[in-house]
Amino acid sequence: MANEPPLQASLWHATAAPAPATQPFVGDRTADVAIVGAGFTGCSAALHLAEKGVNVTVLEAEQIGWGGSGRNAGLVNAGMWLDPSEVIRLLGPVYGPRILDALDAAPELVDRLAKRHDMACDIVPKGVIRGAHNHKALGGLIEHARQWRERGANVEVYDRTAFAKLTGSNHYVGGIVDHRSFSIQPLSYARGLARAAIAAGANLHEGARVTAVESANGKWRLKTAAGVLTADKMIMATNAYSDGLWPGMRETIIPIGCYMYATEPLSENVRQSILPGKRALYDAQPSMVFARYDRDYRLIVGSLGYLPSGEMVSPRSWAQRTLRYLFPQLGEQTFSHAWAGTIGFTSDHLPRIYEPAPGVHMVLGYNGRGIGPGTYWGKTLADRVLGMPASDFALPVSPVKAAPFRGLRSRFYETAFSAYRLRSLFQ
Ligand SMILES: Cc1cc2nc3c(=O)[nH]c(=O)nc-3n(C[C@H](O)[C@H](O)[C@H](O)COP(=O)(O)OP(=O)(O)OC[C@H]3O[C@@H](n4cnc5c(N)ncnc54)[C@H](O)[C@@H]3O)c2cc1C
Repeated sequence: MANEPPLQASLWHATAAPAPATQPFVGDRTADVAIVGAGFTGCSAALHLAEKGVNVTVLEAEQIGWGGSGRNAGLVNAGMWLDPSEVIRLLGPVYGPRILDALDAAPELVDRLAKRHDMACDIVPKGVIRGAHNHKALGGLIEHARQWRERGANVEVYDRTAFAKLTGSNHYVGGIVDHRSFSIQPLSYARGLARAAIAAGANLHEGARVTAVESANGKWRLKTAAGVLTADKMIMATNAYSDGLWPGMRETIIPIGCYMYATEPLSENVRQSILPGKRALYDAQPSMVFARYDRDYRLIVGSLGYLPSGEMVSPRSWAQRTLRYLFPQLGEQTFSHAWAGTIGFTSDHLPRIYEPAPGVHMVLGYNGRGIGPGTYWGKTLADRVLGMPASDFALPVSPVKAAPFRGLRSRFYETAFSAYRLRSLFQ
């Protein structure tokens, strides 16, 4: 996380719906359930617990949405990176279909909550587009769409000509549109979940970093600089922003950067020829390029990696070049906002659930697809705290185990992303 700009640098921070008011955390307090982290996972868990009358307190080190939830690209995707057949191969006939069904329905859950709690989070419900940069990638996308269609999902395939018309870009050889998915203002959504949780009775404190956790008399004591929270149960929802609070938890994921740039609002005539219909686009390259509008028609473009300084092709000049080859009709653009965040990847692209001690629940490793899944897992952890057996989870509970070659992998990916930016010189 060393190279990350503050959340305040992001377009989302500049344009988000106001955050709910919170009070500082001070003194000795008690709760039935303590939650560490106020992103999608923590806020969704708090909302679903508070709605059931549970006394729940969320402690957030910085501010609501400060982690991935306030920084992300806002693509509310269904499913996972993996094809359904691969998920079933890895997880077997019980957990495989369960997790597929759960994450198939996750965008619907986000939409339902946003509507029920009247969140101003700029949903564009028109399907998310995925482009293929070559024929091999197109074959993969066609197969992905086929497998999801077989499971009843509405995922359409587009050939080169139809895809160019759909996106306003001639760069891709074809692609798919997943009609289950949509885009959102992610920080507004995180704040909306927090506001709904507080309205339902949850306590939420910002600027309350938990510095130590200890067990005493069958309860959990969470210490901050200004107080102690004692709770029967604890949910850790710190994901890629885990700071070592629970031994070994941070080491179970591979941190990967992701950055993005936003233009000034595009003029009316230009915007008609670029992503008409305001659908978001991402592609099938390993370094993944994405482009989407915000509500004011600023075009946001981004990719994987941190924001290193002093590179021959900096992320900023990469962003300029990328817009030039994707949408030559756009002309030169200046950027009003640049920001980045950390994604928690796992070695097999599956999230992890941990229950390392009685009454302690954790889920993390959404692999860059955490809006729907974070909302879903927050709700599911609430069910678990309320008595759902662990065997009903959509994934098996795993031991807390470091990701193999974590540091090496992270450095390898960063080098690969730099090399990819360099390649843009020749595009
Ligand atoms: C740049 C970027 C782009 C992405 N794009 C997408 C996308 O388009 N679509 C998608 O679905 N997903 C995307 N993701 C992934 C998604 O944002 C995350 O998976 C999701 O936000 C995780 O939510 P969370 O609540 O689990 O964790 P987070 O939102 O990361 O929240 C964790 C919180 O824990 C707090 N915390 C940490 N330690 C402590 C402590 N000791 N005490 C108290 N609080 C603590 C942190 O301050 C933080 O606020 C992207 C992520 C990034 C970074």
